[in-house]
Amino acid sequence: MCGIFGAVMRGTDAASLAALGVFSLQHRGQESAGLAVSDGEQLMLYKDLGLIAQVLDERRLPSLRGHLAIAHCRYSTTGSTVWENAQPTFRLGRGRALAIGHNGNLVNTRELLSHLEGGKSRLSATTDTELLTALLADYPSGDTVEALLHVLPLVRGAYSLAILDEKHVIGVRDPFGFRPLVLGRMEPAADDPEGRHSGGWLISSESAAIEVAGGTVVRDVEPGEIVILEEGKEPVSVRFAEGHEQLCVFELIYFGRPDSYMLGRNLYESRRRMGMALATESPVEADMVMPVPETGAPAAAGYAEASGLPYREGMVRNRYSGRTFIQPSQAMRQRGVTVKLSPLREVVAGRRLVVVDDSIVRGTTTRQIVALLRKAGATEVHLRISSPPIHHPCFYGIDTQIETELIAATHSVDEIRDFVGADSLSFLSIAGVLQGLDLPYDRFCFACFDGRYPVPVPYDTTRHKFVLEDAEGEPVSQGELHVPGVLPAATPPPHE
Ligand code: SF4
Repeated sequence: MCGIFGAVMRGTDAASLAALGVFSLQHRGQESAGLAVSDGEQLMLYKDLGLIAQVLDERRLPSLRGHLAIAHCRYSTTGSTVWENAQPTFRLGRGRALAIGHNGNLVNTRELLSHLEGGKSRLSATTDTELLTALLADYPSGDTVEALLHVLPLVRGAYSLAILDEKHVIGVRDPFGFRPLVLGRMEPAADDPEGRHSGGWLISSESAAIEVAGGTVVRDVEPGEIVILEEGKEPVSVRFAEGHEQLCVFELIYFGRPDSYMLGRNLYESRRRMGMALATESPVEADMVMPVPETGAPAAAGYAEASGLPYREGMVRNRYSGRTFIQPSQAMRQRGVTVKLSPLREVVAGRRLVVVDDSIVRGTTTRQIVALLRKAGATEVHLRISSPPIHHPCFYGIDTQIETELIAATHSVDEIRDFVGADSLSFLSIAGVLQGLDLPYDRFCFACFDGRYPVPVPYDTTRHKFVLEDAEGEPVSQGELHVPGVLPAATPPPHE
């Protein structure tokens, strides 16, 4: 996951507006942040490791002047957490400069590397985004959109992009629309008689960030669409591929802000309805329902509503500790959970708890939560998860590329229950998720739940392992691209 935000504003407000926008997307990545700005003539860029408020602070923003800006916050799915891999990327191309913020993950980087003159030695970072930026910058025409139309047909995988050149902010969404991207408008300022601020245009990973920045949501950028934003002009839309929307369902289950909208659905309401479906599918006798704070709260509210059990908050969360799942290493994750959550003894002691969370990835956090609740005096802990078990890794921008780290890939539900130490454990079915979303299966990617990968991913048939190609150019894919054991495309999904 990453967050991207772009702004085109007359005057010199674009940098602070983009910083405000990406600050509202901090939940999407906490490893590094950066901002690139253009005054119409030249680009400037600042990026560093750290949270957005640490990187884009009042010392930096005033020096980033221009009416065009993009901003990015990152957590890594390719490349390590080092300064070079922070985004936006930057490259001087033939006749123009280019900066890119990317949310997603490319799956054919080795193939793309073969198109890069000079090969990997020309890359200063180890990310797929660096490679894409180099390919675009190399394109002989000075026109960024021409370069995109030439390069994007070569690219496979997930990408929502915010691109900046001297004159434009450009939004791009891959043909499957794995990651969200929203177009917004800034109205002209009413208290600006000189007309310096004539309004402008925004792009954002999520709708909530557009509203926080003071804009209004216009529409989603469509899968396979390029949207070109330029000062004083209406957005121009260019299609580079036919779209087959397969939005990551995890965006709606877990990642997106509850006040965001995706595919016309408010994420809080969707999650609440998933909780209701979970209560119908997996009822249990208990004294109260509580969420794993904070992301489990909407589903817990729905579970309580449908079950008739009282809703209580049985844990408090340190709001400044960050999400454990998106910290970059297992060691950091394990340290994180102990400082992050603390049980409310007065609420949980002597009670049978239904504990609702949105997902179990590795199981280590859940195990510690159950232990904390038992230590605080809970007599029973019944875990209810508002998503299906994650059986398969993600190659489209979520940090679950290593199958052996996914507990559901190697353990049955009963084994997971035993591992985490719960009295009972149930997951919501795919049908239950769809009931909550009130949308059809074919609008979404469910690959980490059912293995139906919309874009084929490299699979090493000799080692029976998924292995991603990387910008280092290491040999990784030994065999066919489709995954053995995975339902062929013509097979109806298992929930039907
Ligand atoms: S594999 Fe899972 S996490 Fe990755 S895009 Fe698909 S639904 Fe989302």
